[in-house]
Amino acid sequence: MRTETATAPCPPGPACRDVVSRTERRALVEAEFRRRYDRAPSLWCRAPGRVDLMGSHTDYNLGYVLTLPIGCDTWIAARPREDRTVCLYSLNLEAEASFGLDRVVSDPQARWSNYVRGVAQVLQTEGLKLNGFDGVIHSTVPMSSGLSSSAALECVTATVFEALGGWKLDPVNKALLCQRAENQFVGVNCGILDQYTSCAGQEGCALLLDCRDLSSRPVKLADGIKVVIGDTKSKRELAGSEYGQRRAQCEEGARRLGVQALREISLEQFNARERELPSEVAKRCRFIVEENDRVLKLGAALKAFDRQAIRQLTAASFRGACDLYEIGAPAMHTMTEAMLAAPGVIGARQAGAGFGGCLVAFVEEASVDAFAASVRHAYFAATQTQPEVYLVQAAAGAGLLPQTPDAPDAHHRSGFLTASIGKTAARHSPHPSRPGRTHRPKDSIIRNPEPN
Ligand code: ADP
Ligand code: MG
Repeated sequence: MRTETATAPCPPGPACRDVVSRTERRALVEAEFRRRYDRAPSLWCRAPGRVDLMGSHTDYNLGYVLTLPIGCDTWIAARPREDRTVCLYSLNLEAEASFGLDRVVSDPQARWSNYVRGVAQVLQTEGLKLNGFDGVIHSTVPMSSGLSSSAALECVTATVFEALGGWKLDPVNKALLCQRAENQFVGVNCGILDQYTSCAGQEGCALLLDCRDLSSRPVKLADGIKVVIGDTKSKRELAGSEYGQRRAQCEEGARRLGVQALREISLEQFNARERELPSEVAKRCRFIVEENDRVLKLGAALKAFDRQAIRQLTAASFRGACDLYEIGAPAMHTMTEAMLAAPGVIGARQAGAGFGGCLVAFVEEASVDAFAASVRHAYFAATQTQPEVYLVQAAAGAGLLPQTPDAPDAHHRSGFLTASIGKTAARHSPHPSRPGRTHRPKDSIIRNPEPN
């Protein structure tokens, strides 16, 4: 059995408790692939999960997010097929599914496969040539815990189709298409954060993402600051309906304040006009306006190792999430208390959409192990639930896995990403969160002479 330590890169999926290294993980996936399809896979792709370091619910308000692509990732081992069928097996769910590319429809029985089907459908709508394939999926991103396993699955799927089809999308457009798959095919009205981070992430850096023009720049945390996840293991009840309600309230606030999105309102302007809003809408909007402001401040504080600012900003974010945006849950409070009492803590706050799931802490490097042990002990003592507490490192965005298991990943990122298509979308669309209406991803396809 795997022995969990604070420095383990990620908890493995439920079907794969024994996997510790990438080599073992690869062997497990390959064995399953051979068992199911009688041959070895010819292509390995990966896409990371993410944790938001600051900026809860700011993405669909077209604001800022400080986001970290993490070492927990989703792999697909694949081999092209002669026909137009996609055959899938998820090791995490121990479930299979298949569909034809000529008529992609959703499957209410195997809902998980809709993330793959949706990407296939959206890419084909863009006129991209898709190949059928056999695939085995394996993920170390915990599902439905706020670290974005759904986007990781979408983005790795798009990466497989790219490699087999002999074309390439730039990361931002790939993210927009994956978001469209989740919005329109799966039916989850998420913002761009998850897919953007999974596609455009850079190893060793957080990204400061501007969700209005879809540009981002890398933010390197000061040496000595580590990011530790605390998974409460509590189910995210009501997350879907509450999410939609929060989003509608923000849209109502923006409408009443006469702006396209809350991003356009400064804190001073909001203070002056808050009373024009119904009280609950005002609370939601105040959180977003303040949170947006905190993103830029936290980026600066993490670079400068300003402990006091990190602690204050994370505390204010968590307070606002619970009191104003009302996305807290008892397990989140217990986890935060455990984190704030643990050795080496600098600050802690919610991760993901709230209502349970994970929290994220900034911890002094020398204390990571002691921190994790203390949090596990305190959380278990309070809840009788064993949490998962683990260090995460900034990983590269979606790409190919290397041919040999322990070589560095094949990824190709540059310093500053600017999205010309995203700018177009933001300029022209009254609903930029639905990029499919306005952007033209085909323009930015990089054609490869040969499949990767
Ligand atoms: P989150 O993105 O925060 O993890 P979501 O509810 O958005 O939570 O997405 C989780 C869903 O994504 C799962 O319930 C499942 O349907 C699908 N999914 C994610 N990873 C996998 C995987 N490895 N195998 C099969 N389905 C997956
Ligand atoms: Mg998701």
